[in-house]
Order: sequence, then C-alpha cells, then structure tokens
Amino acid sequence: MHKRKKKHRQQHNPGIAFQEPNASLHLETRPEGAGLAIAFLGASGTVTGSRYLVDDGETRVVVDSGLFQGAKDLRVLNWAPIPPDVADVGLVLLTHAHLDHSGALPRMARLGWNGTVLCTRATTALCELLLPDSGHLQEKDADFANRHGFSRHQPAQPLYTQADARLALELFQTIRFGEWHPIADGISARYHDAGHILGAASIELSWKGRTILFSGDIGRYGDAVMKDPVPPARADYVLVESTYGDRRHEKVDPTTTLGDHIERCVRRGGTVVIPAFAVGRVQSLLYHLSRLRAAGRLRDTPIYLDSPMAINASELMCKFMDEHRLNRTDCEAACGVAHYVREVEESKALTADTNPKVIISASGMATGGRVLHHLKRFAPDPKNLVLFAGFQAAGTRGAALVAGAKTIKIHGEYVPVEAEVANLTMLSAHADSDEIIRWLGSLEQAPRQVFVTHGEPTGSNVLAKRVSEELGWSCTVPTLGSWSVLA
Ligand SMILES: [Zn+2]
Repeated sequence: MHKRKKKHRQQHNPGIAFQEPNASLHLETRPEGAGLAIAFLGASGTVTGSRYLVDDGETRVVVDSGLFQGAKDLRVLNWAPIPPDVADVGLVLLTHAHLDHSGALPRMARLGWNGTVLCTRATTALCELLLPDSGHLQEKDADFANRHGFSRHQPAQPLYTQADARLALELFQTIRFGEWHPIADGISARYHDAGHILGAASIELSWKGRTILFSGDIGRYGDAVMKDPVPPARADYVLVESTYGDRRHEKVDPTTTLGDHIERCVRRGGTVVIPAFAVGRVQSLLYHLSRLRAAGRLRDTPIYLDSPMAINASELMCKFMDEHRLNRTDCEAACGVAHYVREVEESKALTADTNPKVIISASGMATGGRVLHHLKRFAPDPKNLVLFAGFQAAGTRGAALVAGAKTIKIHGEYVPVEAEVANLTMLSAHADSDEIIRWLGSLEQAPRQVFVTHGEPTGSNVLAKRVSEELGWSCTVPTLGSWSVLA
C-alpha cells in the first residue's frame, strides 16, 4: 500500500469570497440515538454530486465527494458549505474518478480538509488528470466572469484552483481490488470491480457485523472494453445507482451502429461531432473505431480526438492492462486510430475545416470544453451529425439537443440546430435497468434494505418499483439531505 506524504499544507487564500454566498443544502439533523445511520448528501434525485456519510456516533466515513453538474439550481450546491460532519471526517472512500464522484475533493482541500482519500491505483492516476484540469476550468470561468462582468460578486472567485486540486491529490492513498482496508475497530472497507471505467469500484463497508454496499457507477455486462461488474456475495444494505433505472439499452452491436451513423453522415459530405466523456467513453469509442478500420470501414474518413485530457486518459489504458479486456495490440490500435489534437490552434483549424470527418471532443454533455466550438460551427448545417454516446443529465445542452432543441445557447449566442442529432446509449458506460437488476440479483440473499440513488426521479422510482416487485426486496428512494437509520 502506498501512502502519499501529507506535507506542505498551504495556508488557504484568506480572501476567498464565495460566488453563491447563500447556497445551502438542506440537511436533516442526525436522528437522536440512531446508532449506525447514513446521510444522503448528494446524488439523490439527481445523477450528480455523489456524497454519502456513514456515522455510528463514534466513527464517520464519507463515500465519494463529487460535483453537482447540470441545471443551475444543482450547480449552486457546489458552493454550499461543506456539512460539518463531512469536514470532520478522516476518510473519504472514493468509488471512481469521474468528477461527479471526485470533483468536490479539491473544494474540501481548499477549505482546509486534510483527511485521507482511499481509492484504486487507476482512479488515482485518472484523478491526477481530472482534478487539476477541473481546477483550471474553475479558474478560467472565474477569470471569464471577471473580464466580462458576469459575476454579481466582485471579484468572482473560482470554486477551487489547480493548486487546490494538487493539495487534494496529496491526500490520496491507494488500495487494491479485493483487499480489506482497516478503518477503525470492527470497521473495514473492500473494493470490488464495478466495470464502469478504469479503476472504478463498488465499495463494501463492513461495519461491526453489518455490511453496507455502495454500487458506485455500475458498468455493462459483456462490454467490449471493460470487464463485467462483480459485486460481493452479500450485503445488509445496498446503495445502488439508477442512471438508466427506467431504460434499456438497444440490443444492437455498438461497433456496427456507430459505423452506420458515421458513414451516413460522411456520404452526404458532413462532419460527425461526438461530445464524449474524456475518461471512459472516449476510450470505448476509439476501440470501436479501430474495429471499424480493421474491418475496412471509414478508411478515407479522418478521425480526430480533440481533447488533451482524453488523449492522456487514453494513454492510461495501455498502462493499466489488467483492468480491462483489451490486449496490448487492441489497446495500441485503439490509441492509434485517431489523430490527436492537443494545441488550441490546431483545434481551431479543425473547426474551420469543411471536409467530412469525425471529431471526438469533450465534454460529454456539451457543458463546456472544446466541443462547444465545434457545435457552434457544425450544428447549424443539416448535413452534419451530432452523436452523443452516453447519459445526458437534465439541464445540460446535451439533454436539450437529444430532446430535439432547435437552438442552443453557446458562449452567449443562440446557435440554430439543423444537424442530425443521435444518442447511441448502447455505448454508455452505465448498466441499464435490466443490468442493474442482474447486478443486484447476484447477491446471494436479500439485503435488509436497498436505497436507490444516483438517478433522476423517474429513473430511481422505476428501478425501486422493479426491485420491490421483481426481487421482493425492501427498497426506498432517499431524498437529498435526508438520514436513514441502519437498524
Ligand atoms: Zn462515473
């Protein structure tokens, strides 16, 4: 086990002014004399902001500490004070690197938190890419707001900076899958493969004779790139994600479907813009594209990966060979299928280029990043195709486009949408409703209680109904800020 040094704690900027000074998360008080209890501090009624607190009155552990993303009323919650129970906690168990699970850790570090973050090696490697980049984006947003006078708060401050992200990374400690990590007397944690992205885990928390299982984000069964999710054999309490709790992915071959969509667009002289999550989705897309090339398809269609973050994350695939299904040859072929675009000038040249091509760029829900420039340029022309490859959270440009919006607002301008828009959810990194039921069903006996989290209300409610009716298990959908006693 590798323990990072916890040195060099810097004095935090004393001049921090919060951009949303009134933001607050309504948090119930812990039930009196509750014994073991859990608080749902995020990802309840929404797919983002994952954060749960387990507390038995003596020991407290937090699982995940993610950013709220999507609609503004959710995003302002990122500015809410960290609940005191969380600020005091010594340990955060991190399921995986995606920012909606890890992205509030730099915020905690900025506010002086200096506990330990426990996660797998690949999660650490991905967080080393994602967290400083997130800090950089926060700084850029604050700077942009200041230069254009957007902010009601002068000067606008970032939620956190790159330096705060580096402080947070100093707190990381790694654990192997399957290994028990002792936390306190009678309390320990074990990580299981969740199959979602590199390093992603479900976390089993053994707590003085009771077991609480956090699904994290559950991957697909039979995915071409990632391994199947494997939960432990039993648990007394289960928190299960429900991103696609009300949906089934189409049972079609993702490689063929992707190829058909791209070829149709290229035949009419169009450009395919694929907004993709830099970590996870991009690597799967590259693999499917390399299979198409190997089958003699898309030979004359240039493919560009326009995201430095996604390029770096793709290179990590070949570093963590035992965490996915690809062999070295396939892995290298996937990484070699696209022309990597790192420089801004080259990205701008790509936006100006009218030849048929494929551009993969972040962010995956079109909430920011270089993909916005491509959407601005290519969305107004009906011969182009905007192809999504994953879940689009409510309130994002991605969700609006998939729902058929005729205009979207980018950088303060209204952009008409005439391009074809498609969402290939079978390329998603998330289990669908049937796969979540399969994952739960592999537990050898009924848990005492299932908590359905990490979904929009319909997804969570539909899944909860399936768990009650098909598995016959006791199941609830907790509300944001509520506590449940684990009797
Ligand atoms: Zn995720």
